[in-house]
Amino acid sequence: MFHKILIANRGEIACRVIKTAKRMGIATVSVYSDADANALHVKHADEAVHIGPAPSRDSYLSIEKIITACKQTGADAVHPGYGFLSENAKFADALAKEDIAFIGPPINAIEIMGDKITSKKQANAAGVSTVPGYMGLVETPEQGRDIATEIGYPVMIKASAGGGGKGMRIAWSNAEIEEGIARAKSEAASSFGDDRLFIEKFITNPRHIEIQILADNHDNIIHLGERECSIQRRNQKVIEEAPSPFVDSALRETMGEQAIALARSVDYKSAGTVEFIMDQEHNFYFLEMNTRLQVEHPVTELITGIDLVEQMIKVAAGEALSFRQSDVTFKGWAIESRVYAENPYRNFLPSTGRLLTYNPPHHHQDDKGCIVRNDTGVYEGAEISTYYDPMIAKLCTWAPDRTNAIEKMLDALDEFEVEGIANNIPFLSALINHQAFRDGALTTGFIETHYKGGFEGVAIPSDIKDYLAQTACVLKYIEMQRMNVTGPNENQQQQCLAIKTEDTAFECKVHYEAPHYIVSTKNNTIPLNVIWSLGQRLTQISLNDQKLTLRVNKTTTGYILSYRGSDVSIDVLPPHIMKLMALMPEKQIADTSNLLLCPMPGCVTSVLVKEGDQVEPGQGLAIVEAMKMENMLKAERQAVVKKICIEPNTTLNVDDVIMEFE
Ligand code: ADP
Ligand code: ADP
Ligand code: MG
Repeated sequence: MFHKILIANRGEIACRVIKTAKRMGIATVSVYSDADANALHVKHADEAVHIGPAPSRDSYLSIEKIITACKQTGADAVHPGYGFLSENAKFADALAKEDIAFIGPPINAIEIMGDKITSKKQANAAGVSTVPGYMGLVETPEQGRDIATEIGYPVMIKASAGGGGKGMRIAWSNAEIEEGIARAKSEAASSFGDDRLFIEKFITNPRHIEIQILADNHDNIIHLGERECSIQRRNQKVIEEAPSPFVDSALRETMGEQAIALARSVDYKSAGTVEFIMDQEHNFYFLEMNTRLQVEHPVTELITGIDLVEQMIKVAAGEALSFRQSDVTFKGWAIESRVYAENPYRNFLPSTGRLLTYNPPHHHQDDKGCIVRNDTGVYEGAEISTYYDPMIAKLCTWAPDRTNAIEKMLDALDEFEVEGIANNIPFLSALINHQAFRDGALTTGFIETHYKGGFEGVAIPSDIKDYLAQTACVLKYIEMQRMNVTGPNENQQQQCLAIKTEDTAFECKVHYEAPHYIVSTKNNTIPLNVIWSLGQRLTQISLNDQKLTLRVNKTTTGYILSYRGSDVSIDVLPPHIMKLMALMPEKQIADTSNLLLCPMPGCVTSVLVKEGDQVEPGQGLAIVEAMKMENMLKAERQAVVKKICIEPNTTLNVDDVIMEFE
């Protein structure tokens, strides 16, 4: 077995690998860039080596620096995690030359699977079903048009070197294919330094279902069942689960056999994933093979009880798998939510800054046996920078069945506290609570279909809505008591409060009668059990048998209470102050409607319009690159560009002015 493993990665996955290595009694080394000097993966490792400046190409992507760090610390193996150098054959080769073990598959397998055209040919030859299409390169728009006509629209144009959901375009007609090819070619060239394209049939309303493979050096190749990853945005996964509600055991076996056949054909070792796209008739087609640990591997671990990182380490050290296909059993249901630093209310723009509060639900198993697991690479006070991808954590739940895994996830998301940066938790809650998700009616177009104009929050369930104003009264009461006396006592005074929300205004009286707060209005009296103390961001209230966790944000006049993707603003004040509030002038918001402001810190890589141009709503104005993503800023209304205020390739802060309109 290895003595010391260097993890050539950062963030949650580096922490994840360190955890297993430690449990196995293996020493660990982290590497870090300038931006990560205080990162969690640095704190968790036994040793850490600084490998350069923040940009990945000068640090986490530098083969030379990682090899130097291995030599310097005497690491005898490297785990690459996912992303960065994990699927880089040159890296695996460089390690081999230094006699350092690569905890991953053989170089040949990485090379074949690293290219979408070569891998598709390989899959075809191994008897795996592939998406109908053209197996060669598409050179010109004319050729593309001919091929697409033959395949039949819609088609997908894909970069052979693609990954991370980039370099892909759908075309529905001859007109779209020419533009699609041009755009995909330039995106592929800039993202991957390789503009080779191919075309295949676009499978409509598909599901993304993938098979986890595990193979050793002793001729054993097994599969660990499927994961469904259909909930995607921009072809990137957001929510994953195992098993899939769409796959039965017969289909699982067929898919598993094909995945194993493909792995065998390239002499695969280590953990790997064969991705398939599946139509609504259960026909499935090979998409690609990821020759590494996958982001969403925890859901497989939760239903199989197998630690994939441990298996990868053992296989790389030459050990044979200690179990066979027939030993693998699937138990219960697991779901993963990717918590991203992005603003769901502003078209998912990435967000950066300091995590003022970071308090995820703790890893635990409850009395029903349900599990919460949170894989994270950050901590309270840490900085989310623009240099790396915006994933903050992977929140997983396990339960004996899908319904309970969903309920557990909703509770866990309710308890997840993040402050200081925008995050997608309200969106995740809304998604998982959506009836179509609960029904398992998933397709890769789920988000586009159900959140067509973007995410605008969801309406608060009516049975809960009625209680929010009362809850706000209790919070205000608790605050007022704290200001008056040292602690709650039997004879606390009753308080009169005035409440105003968007759709109602009334007065009530509140007092405490252990164990309840009693809120009485003209018409009714409600006993509420509220757990909250000043400054807490979450409050728990009990309604009948139901326990709810609400997020509390104090405003100058009351609170904003949030529940599963919906926010309700409630004013609560002593009645005489509420009366005076009506006389207060409204705060004037600065008029920035004739400015295009930079919505996040990032680099404006191109400006798409000139001074004097008339722009139409929806027209692209500029591209801002941040956190590995290109974000197109679009015109919100018709306007004429008066002045462009920056040069291309300028790095800007939030709300810096990019252009002015007339
Ligand atoms: P996964 O299921 O592991 O996300 P994908 O094939 O979707 O697999 O992603 C490929 C790789 O792209 C992953 O290793 C991930 O680290 C990386 N990646 C994730 N997000 C982005 C992004 N926004 N831009 C570029 N690469 C990304
Ligand atoms: P990447 O390497 O970027 O992960 P994939 O080939 O795995 O690229 O595709 C990513 C996603 O794009 C899939 O999960 C699916 O949602 C969509 N996709 C890819 N190919 C097709 C296709 N032929 N038809 C429909 N959707 C597709
Ligand atoms: Mg993929």
